[in-house]
Amino acid sequence: MRYAILSDIHGNFEAFLAVLRDIERWSNEQRAKIDGVWCLGDIVGYGPEPRECVQRIRELCQFCIAGNHDWAAIGKLDLDEFTGVAANSAEWTAAQLSAQDRIYLRGLPELTTYGEFTLTHGSPLNPIWEYLTTPHAATPNFGAFETTYCLVGHTHVPTIFLLPDDVHPAPAMPSVLTPELARSGFLMGDSDLMPFPDLGASPLSPAPLAEHLSPAPGLWLLPEHRRAIINPGSVGQPRDGDPRAAYMIYDSDLGFEFRRVEYDVAATQRKMSEQGLSPRMAARLEKGL
Ligand code: ZN
Repeated sequence: MRYAILSDIHGNFEAFLAVLRDIERWSNEQRAKIDGVWCLGDIVGYGPEPRECVQRIRELCQFCIAGNHDWAAIGKLDLDEFTGVAANSAEWTAAQLSAQDRIYLRGLPELTTYGEFTLTHGSPLNPIWEYLTTPHAATPNFGAFETTYCLVGHTHVPTIFLLPDDVHPAPAMPSVLTPELARSGFLMGDSDLMPFPDLGASPLSPAPLAEHLSPAPGLWLLPEHRRAIINPGSVGQPRDGDPRAAYMIYDSDLGFEFRRVEYDVAATQRKMSEQGLSPRMAARLEKGL
């Protein structure tokens, strides 16, 4: 089976279309058809074409998960919990969506399980909000899903965490990341726009810690006797210093292929400026930060 796994499109339809063309290219080269397209949340927010992105996702996706920006755009999250830029963009996005789009976003699940995969936006412990950026944050999350793989988005950085499959950490949130803290606004909005707690000091993090990999584009296969939390990176707003759209393809014969796709960044920036969206958010697209 072969699945295209996308996350964090963020209303960047130019990047999304480039990824869809790349999926078609892959399919032609491999002479293999894609069995499903999965999206790990944040279809909208920041970008200039939220409606186009939601509509295409509705047509395409076998599974789509709710992201914090999707909820913000339909009023399911309090905008006080977002940074100024994110809140303004959520208000603008809300005004663009049709009633059908809103119904679709409202119905998205926080977490789905399919075969060997668990799909969520942030983490299995805190699907909407937790950023899995460190082994200390990732490790207790291995206790919160049963499948071989957990696919996440939210950080916009391609990442793999690995743990031996006979290790079952207590699925406890690190003590500093209580739901109250998560709701307090401390973690809301962008990881780079808000202060970020150091989860490394958490006394609840069990040993051994998950191994942390930063995958380059190309194939990656799960080592034997491991489970993995995998983030494909972001289609519409990469933040790992590479401005190309990021996504991945899973092939049950080959493993995971992390892919990067060039798209017309200037076209997205032009559309953002026409809509009066944040110049800072537009500028960062060309740096991938
Ligand atoms: Zn996002």
